[in-house]
Amino acid sequence: MRNARKMWAALVAPALLLTGCSLLQSKASDQGLAGVGDPYFPTYGNSGYDVAHYGLKVRFDPSSGRLDGTNTVRATATQPLDRFHLDLYGLTVATVTVDGQPAEATREADELIITPKAPIAKGAAFTTEIAYGGRPADTPEKDAENNGFFTSRRGAVAVGEPQSAAAWFPVNDHPSDKALYDIELTVPAGYSGISNGLLRGRSEQADGWNSWQWQVTSPMASYLALMAVGRYRVVQGVHKGKPMITAIAAKVPVGEADENLARTPEVADFLETIAGPYPFDAYGGIVVADRRVEDEMESQTRPVYTAATWEDGPDTGILAHELAHQWFGDSVSVATWQDIWLNEGFATYAEWLWLEHDGGPTLQQQYDQRYADRKSELWEVPPGDPGREEIFSDSVYERGGMTLIALRKLVGDEKFSAILRTWTQRHRDGNANTADFIALAEQTSGQQLDAFFDKWLYAKGRPS
Ligand SMILES: [Zn+2]
Repeated sequence: MRNARKMWAALVAPALLLTGCSLLQSKASDQGLAGVGDPYFPTYGNSGYDVAHYGLKVRFDPSSGRLDGTNTVRATATQPLDRFHLDLYGLTVATVTVDGQPAEATREADELIITPKAPIAKGAAFTTEIAYGGRPADTPEKDAENNGFFTSRRGAVAVGEPQSAAAWFPVNDHPSDKALYDIELTVPAGYSGISNGLLRGRSEQADGWNSWQWQVTSPMASYLALMAVGRYRVVQGVHKGKPMITAIAAKVPVGEADENLARTPEVADFLETIAGPYPFDAYGGIVVADRRVEDEMESQTRPVYTAATWEDGPDTGILAHELAHQWFGDSVSVATWQDIWLNEGFATYAEWLWLEHDGGPTLQQQYDQRYADRKSELWEVPPGDPGREEIFSDSVYERGGMTLIALRKLVGDEKFSAILRTWTQRHRDGNANTADFIALAEQTSGQQLDAFFDKWLYAKGRPS
């Protein structure tokens, strides 16, 4: 994500605390619990199982704002389960089955609690199917990062970090449980239904509505799942043998957005020179029109850009930032939200590197300009442990990026390059944390780097 505004966190922090706090009291051993124990957001996601695949069929009617869906979730129990949780904001659950048998479903705050007829054994694979529907709760203005669902007369878009998936489907909503997806969006004729990955087909239903069938073939963190319904200029092409699908809201004037978005392959190819092969089997991007969506977002294979992104002219830095996340964040995902600098610091570094390549300021200038400011707020927030209210603060982005520049100087270009490439290769399609990165940097460079990372990532104050 690249944040258009500063200090959003203070506005949304109280809301973040609401999800299922009371459920932490549950202690019975054969229950999956609310929360995977994230140090910043302990109630996010759920324990007790590991999702392999979501089969989502969602019908959205822009005229009423109503969404109706079925979600077929294939998972494996990581402990004996008498019951388990999924995250779901609002919406009404109609029926739930587990392995084809009707199951009991109750709701507690934003948790859907499912009790199968028979307990599930540890290690057993199971399938739960949930039919649900309603009007997704519209996200308040300036709260895009939490529960991001935006409905307008023109359609809807679901996008937001650290949580947005539960606004439109029942989900284990934490990046540590990545899964494959098949997503079918059914929309009225004339509308597009845009999501992640490959477009496997479009079929017309009996009532004249169209189903768009998307397939995500690399594991995806739930916050990267995209749903956009509206009138879009959809362009399908091919780059390096992989489909490239872009969509630009019809309301956005033809011109700058189209021209900038079309540079996606060029920027992605440049990023391959620092991060290794592009990690997914599709390229793309989407420009949404809803002005409440203020931040660009690295939705997997199809980053979201906003109505404002190219309003004032060309900007390829933002392309570099969101595309860099395809490696740093999407393919290699954070283990916990405390590791957010592994996404944003790396994407910022890649953005600066692209700007240098494109004739903008050099990497050294980006560094020097920030380092020169002794009173900068960058020195107040340690990017390796920013605190949950500061996960999208400037320090996570810029001091995070500066950390990589400083590391590069310390270990040399060749070893630094090896570190980045090994990082994306070793953790591809998985999760990693800051300790993993430090260990890799030490192993590759042959240097003891604890003191270096302590001052850059964990200490307050400007590193000497
Ligand atoms: Zn970002």
